Amino acid sequence: MSQQLLTSLGLSELNSGTYLGQGEWSNTQDAGQIHANNPSRNETIASVWASSEADYETLITRAQAAAKIWRTTPAPQRGEAIRLCGEALRKHKDALGTLVSLEMGKIKAEGDGEVQEMIDIADFAVGQSRMLYGLTMHSERPGHRMYEQWHPLGLVGIISAFNFPVAVWAWNSFIAAVCGNISIWKPSPKTPLTAIASMKVCNEALAKAGFPDLFFLFNDAGDRLAQKFVDDHRVALVSFTGSTRVGRMVGERVAKRMGRSLLELGGNNAIIVDETADLKLAIPAIVFGAVGTAGQRCTTTRRLFVHRSRHDEVVDKLVAAYKQVETKIGDPTDPATLMGPLTDAASVERFLTAIDSAKSAGGKLLTGGSVLERPGNFVTPAIITGVSNSCDAVQTETFAPILYVIPFDSLDEAIEMQNAVPQGLSSAIFTLNLKHAEQFLCAAGSDCGIANVNIGTSGAEIGGAFGGEKETGGGRESGSDAWKAYMRRQTNTINYSDALPLAQGIKFEF
Ligand code: NAD
Repeated sequence: MSQQLLTSLGLSELNSGTYLGQGEWSNTQDAGQIHANNPSRNETIASVWASSEADYETLITRAQAAAKIWRTTPAPQRGEAIRLCGEALRKHKDALGTLVSLEMGKIKAEGDGEVQEMIDIADFAVGQSRMLYGLTMHSERPGHRMYEQWHPLGLVGIISAFNFPVAVWAWNSFIAAVCGNISIWKPSPKTPLTAIASMKVCNEALAKAGFPDLFFLFNDAGDRLAQKFVDDHRVALVSFTGSTRVGRMVGERVAKRMGRSLLELGGNNAIIVDETADLKLAIPAIVFGAVGTAGQRCTTTRRLFVHRSRHDEVVDKLVAAYKQVETKIGDPTDPATLMGPLTDAASVERFLTAIDSAKSAGGKLLTGGSVLERPGNFVTPAIITGVSNSCDAVQTETFAPILYVIPFDSLDEAIEMQNAVPQGLSSAIFTLNLKHAEQFLCAAGSDCGIANVNIGTSGAEIGGAFGGEKETGGGRESGSDAWKAYMRRQTNTINYSDALPLAQGIKFEF
């Protein structure tokens, strides 16, 4: 099945990992190979030739040339190019969704959902291309007009994580493209095939309609080229999605060269369930949030604060639900599966280590926490009680399905605990009490970039700005006015009078 799938997406057993522009994929074969692993079996799906330094220089030069053409192409025409990408992705949704599922390990419904996110952001970007609005201001000087306009940045670099192997690229590159930029993508070495396939689908659609190259791609066997990319002053903006550890380094290095960075880093997301919560809503939201994508979403629910009066009831229901999920762990491409594997053996080790660490801090493992005896990186999702919010295991983002449940007595206490972690991505409250909902959303409430009421922490829509505070990095992508990160603002003052009055009434006569 996978051979047919690869062929349908223009892939083979051994692929070039570098799109150089002008329809050309690099022939480089001396920069190493990247083997795309199927985490359900730990078998290679196909391999990719990594990019060389010479490839990198070629594609940057070509991207710069393309940027000169693209920056003066009218924005609605830029939108038309992205509309064509969205159409092409619609045609390949099923195959691409399956490839995401095979290579990353998320279940097929989530793989398809990820491709749908690319299509949704394409639609959004088409509309945005006619709405790159600036403001007009009233000048304090007579006969003067002031306004602002938004210009493209030039080259936008995208470094993405393994867990959203294609959607993050589309969020960035489609909005960047309607803003008049050319983007260069370095995907995760764990998911090179979905990157190459998405690039092929979109670039073919662009070439057929006579558009220039908008998207370039390179794959790095290690992190040497990625570091060069981060330090490259020709790349105006580096949009980085990944761990806080790497993102901190990226942010510091880009800042050192006075470039711009957009950081989407780790989360340690919590749900609060108060004494009035409707558990018909809360339980499925918690289970999907904690177990979905096998706990490998940046927005995964990792901490659950439950009012003491509902604690045992909630825990019992969750354990029962987890037992059902346990029977549906397996091949992510099987439509009946609810939870797939972790990405690699190291993630399984980190899962076990975190559980041990929680236990030694007084934690009680209520369910899960084991490794399945079968090929692939399968674990059973864990629920742990009896730990404090401040213990190391709870403070750390372990990218695996572990849920820590902690009781609270007052909402103030719950909000304080929720905010008392280094990360600030997503948060939610389940309540039927209007005052509690508003307290959670007010300036003294959740300190996260995303705060929901009666909806879980994961599964954001593309229409809103996505991102988080503190060690999550502060970046915003996707909807709302996130497009502004991909443009530079210019303030223009035009004098249509015959005098030259200075601002602030200054006289300078000679
Ligand atoms: P990671 O930090 O290991 O890797 C991310 C990317 O950085 C990869 O492409 C990797 O090759 C690259 N990289 C590694 N070393 C580099 C270096 N020295 N210079 C430049 N690039 C380098 O993260 P991961 O394991 O792929 O993804 C999981 C992490 O990503 C989690 O922490 C998760 O929360 C986070 N994430 C955040 C968001 C968000 O929107 N906030 C979304 C998805 C994932």
